[in-house]
Amino acid sequence: MKMEKLCLGIESTAHTMGCGIVSFSGKILANERAVYTTQTGGMNPSLVKEHHKKNAETVIDKALEKAGVSIKDISLISYAHGPGISPMLLVGRNNAKDLAKKHNITLIGVNHCVAHLTIGNLTTSIKDPVYLYVSGVNTQVIALENKLFRIFGETLDVGLGNALDKFGREAGLGFPAGPKIEQLAKKGKYVELPYTVKGMDVSFAGLVTKTSQLLKQNTPIEDICFSFQETCFAMLAEVSERAIAYTGKKELLLIGGVAANKRLAEMLDIMCKERGVIFKAVPLDYSGDQGTMIAWQGILEYTNGKSIDPDQADIRPYERTDEVPAIWT
Ligand code: AMP
Ligand code: MG
Repeated sequence: MKMEKLCLGIESTAHTMGCGIVSFSGKILANERAVYTTQTGGMNPSLVKEHHKKNAETVIDKALEKAGVSIKDISLISYAHGPGISPMLLVGRNNAKDLAKKHNITLIGVNHCVAHLTIGNLTTSIKDPVYLYVSGVNTQVIALENKLFRIFGETLDVGLGNALDKFGREAGLGFPAGPKIEQLAKKGKYVELPYTVKGMDVSFAGLVTKTSQLLKQNTPIEDICFSFQETCFAMLAEVSERAIAYTGKKELLLIGGVAANKRLAEMLDIMCKERGVIFKAVPLDYSGDQGTMIAWQGILEYTNGKSIDPDQADIRPYERTDEVPAIWT
């Protein structure tokens, strides 16, 4: 039996060193990762870089083993060229480039944020939604318009994941704090917090300041966590609803690391049901950063004519979602 063509994807833009293997028809064969975490304190780029360097080979080998293939069976190597933090981006780029050269495999670099969008499409079968993309760095309301992902609204300051993590750092919850805040919120009651929506944009800076003040004033952490979630998720529901009304799209797709949060999904689902719109959240395994989405994005672009010379393989720390032509749509 002839094997389907396979792509190996490498992710290293931030906290995760990931490797995924996907077939050209969209079957996911492996999704391995090593995630940098701390008990207390945040992410130190030079420590994260060392973490990625140390784990890259193991993660890639594990993915090949999981998929039951060898590097010789891979037709395409895809890496996340950005956006992200340069020292970490270089680890992924170097591993991808070395493998491509050593084994004479075609290479492609892709945008990490766009990959979050398209793995959402692949794993939920939702085709043309309003995307609510909520991760560490990003909080954006996006939809496809004339073959470009247009950003209709976004955070005016920090991404929601970072806002949660910043609070978590002050509260000694370690990194990432989002899952711990979700658990603590289950036992909390509401205290008022700043709710800041401007058109389709949101701002979390006031919330971060106010929650750290409440922490110092010994407000129960459960109450702060509950109120933080209720307030910022309501803001996200409001701007998503506005984008749905504006674009006339019939689906909402929640993606990015914060998509793991059940309360956020529940609130968005209620809003969508009221509007007669379909709501889906990306499955947990594909919500946070991983190499699988990088592999799938590589396939989408390669099968539409793109690839790069390994010696020209670059990193693009600041490349935005709306700068990437959606040539596969
Ligand atoms: P990403 O950058 O897409 O990998 O997303 C990472 C971010 O997702 C971090 O800021 C985490 O704190 C956040 N996160 C992960 N799980 C949850 C959760 N259950 N609730 C809220 N935030 C979460
Ligand atoms: Mg991400």
